[in-house]
Amino acid sequence: MTIPFEILRTPAAMRARSEDLRRDGKKIAVVPTMGALHEGHLTLLRAARAQADIVILTIFVNPTQFGPQEDLAKYPRDEAGDLALAKTCGIDLAYCPTVDAMYPAGAQTFIEVRELQQPMCGASRPGHFAGVATVVAKLFHATLPHIAVFGEKDFQQLAILRRMTRDLDFGIEIVGVPIVRESDGVALSSRNAYLKPDERVAARALSAGLAAAEAKFKAGERTAEALIAAARAPLEAEALARIDYVELRDATELTPLTTLARPAVLAIAAFVGTTRLIDNRVLS
Ligand code: AMP
Repeated sequence: MTIPFEILRTPAAMRARSEDLRRDGKKIAVVPTMGALHEGHLTLLRAARAQADIVILTIFVNPTQFGPQEDLAKYPRDEAGDLALAKTCGIDLAYCPTVDAMYPAGAQTFIEVRELQQPMCGASRPGHFAGVATVVAKLFHATLPHIAVFGEKDFQQLAILRRMTRDLDFGIEIVGVPIVRESDGVALSSRNAYLKPDERVAARALSAGLAAAEAKFKAGERTAEALIAAARAPLEAEALARIDYVELRDATELTPLTTLARPAVLAIAAFVGTTRLIDNRVLS
């Protein structure tokens, strides 16, 4: 039995709807996004569809995860287009709250995942992961999911949300989906829309570096120094790119590694023109 499609706009309305669905014994999956949907997001929606009775897409461009100099104002927004795309994957409900509904005046409570939020993107984007963890907790409280689906593209975010879910007893299964890429290797991202044609070509340097490092790993290389150097080389050769970080870290604890003896993530953040892009590859 399918339910009529609906867009919910407030935490109270969303929660009431999910409480009804739970009372009816439905298994709920949620896919949180900031909209500007692409094939990466659609892959998450299909994974959710395969595992639940009810799929809820959330679209919320969350102001608390953007720094003062970041792209909050210009972040692409197209709710109608996003919903039309998402419906091709068979979503049941959309939760698209307003900023006022999510953050009433005086809101001052934030979730910090203390260690995991420090390095990598946390070092360059102070406050970003507290914003992410807090908004995802709020989305969980409103949608009451059994399952939540996230992309491995945002590897540190996924590690943080797994830890938050465990530490705070949410009782939600967190599902990670592998990175979806363009045919030239570039990871799909809503921010790719900012790239000028020459920058879009230059963006290949991120995935090319990861592929070069993985080839070295498969050939037996295990030192962080050599793997990181291989990943940096294409970015250093690219005039339009500027490295923010290239790091090899434990895949669960995100602690730095000098030798690869356990599953690790090789992660990159780089500016291409003024657009900050991220990519990663798990080596194990
Ligand atoms: P965003 O709308 O950028 O906040 O992303 C929403 C979700 O989509 C996050 O869980 C991302 O990790 C995931 N995602 C974004 N790009 C990709 C991609 N290329 N492959 C897989 N998942 C992705």
